[in-house]
Amino acid sequence: MPTTLMPNYARLPVTFVRGEGAWLWDTQGIRYLDALSGIAVCGLGHAHPAVTAAICEQANQLLHTSNLYGIAHQQTLADTLVRITGMDRAFFCNSGAEANEAALKIARLYGHNQGRERPAVIVTEGSFHGRTLATLTATGNPKVQAGFAPLLEGFVRVPYNDVNAMAEVAKQHPEVVAVLVEPITGEGGIVIPDDDYLANLRSLCDRHNWLLMLDEIQTGVGRTGQWCAYQHASILPDVLTLAKGLGNGVPIGACLARGKAAEVLKPGTHGSTFGGNPLVCRAARAVIETIEQDNLLQRAQELGQRFYQGFSKALDGVAGVQEIRVKGLMIGIELDRSSGQLMTKALFRQILINVAAERVVRLLPPLIISDAQADDIIATVSHLIVEFLNLPA
Ligand SMILES: *Cc1c(COP(=O)(O)O)cnc(C)c1O
Repeated sequence: MPTTLMPNYARLPVTFVRGEGAWLWDTQGIRYLDALSGIAVCGLGHAHPAVTAAICEQANQLLHTSNLYGIAHQQTLADTLVRITGMDRAFFCNSGAEANEAALKIARLYGHNQGRERPAVIVTEGSFHGRTLATLTATGNPKVQAGFAPLLEGFVRVPYNDVNAMAEVAKQHPEVVAVLVEPITGEGGIVIPDDDYLANLRSLCDRHNWLLMLDEIQTGVGRTGQWCAYQHASILPDVLTLAKGLGNGVPIGACLARGKAAEVLKPGTHGSTFGGNPLVCRAARAVIETIEQDNLLQRAQELGQRFYQGFSKALDGVAGVQEIRVKGLMIGIELDRSSGQLMTKALFRQILINVAAERVVRLLPPLIISDAQADDIIATVSHLIVEFLNLPA
């Protein structure tokens, strides 16, 4: 590995040079099936013609002017996102962590506007919200926080999928102004909460005048078979963050807000030099248009069922397989042991997968994947899991 890069990543021994749909080719010309989409980013697969055309056309016209001026593609993208999410207004940035930073700043301003001097946000165990100081503080994983003390003030942590714990917090912490949660945990291992979790959170927040802030950076933009995972629960959050799948690989994040939360940021309170520039917004528009035109929300639901049935058939009853969790194209197979080695084993079988939370095999395939490609992934990954579990401990 080149020594001029900081050693903050443990990289797998492969370098890709080209992609097409769910296929990737490495420097040796070997072809791989991508069941991870660059961690839920390339939902339309690699080198999607509509996204490529949008980027090329825009590069020929205008890349950047700054938010000192109007940006037509940013305005149109905001209109589209507002239409598909049910939110009222959008702010654009360049990553997931930045989208959550915007959400957290909205929560604090919202609190201060109500005269709270030390506004706090409830967050959950097992969550992941990013790597900036505020978002790693919000993250419910000690490994992400280790070595970075002092962390920020103003967070209260409760277990995931536990509305009662949150209701208890209301009694002890009068300074709470908002809740920040993932509708399904991504890095936390594809934990799918009870069906009524979000609806119960919505009522709890309404009761206490808290903002319900949903981090849909991994679950959003069609990943679960709806534009956003909360749409399965027929509720609306007050603040919503998106990033990964929004640009299919160009860096873009968005923080959307509704009602009172949409009016909190005033001129001078927040900003981003690159955020929402013509290039990334044009690309994101192409992503959303393609998902609509090709009916990919429904396709993600169908594929999710295919993966669920395929993996259940191959792995149900296999000792060591604890649970198979699927919502659209978020797929988690929880094993009874640490299984990070499966990433390398799968790589050697030309399939890209991931392991989250130590022992959850995580698949986030592109929404454009074919039935045959899905079946290939199911067969190879099931085989690898069975082989791995049969190894002497
Ligand atoms: C990836 C992720 C983030 C952080 O996004 P970055 O673009 O890496 O900053 C935040 N929240 C969730 C749920 C994520 O999956």
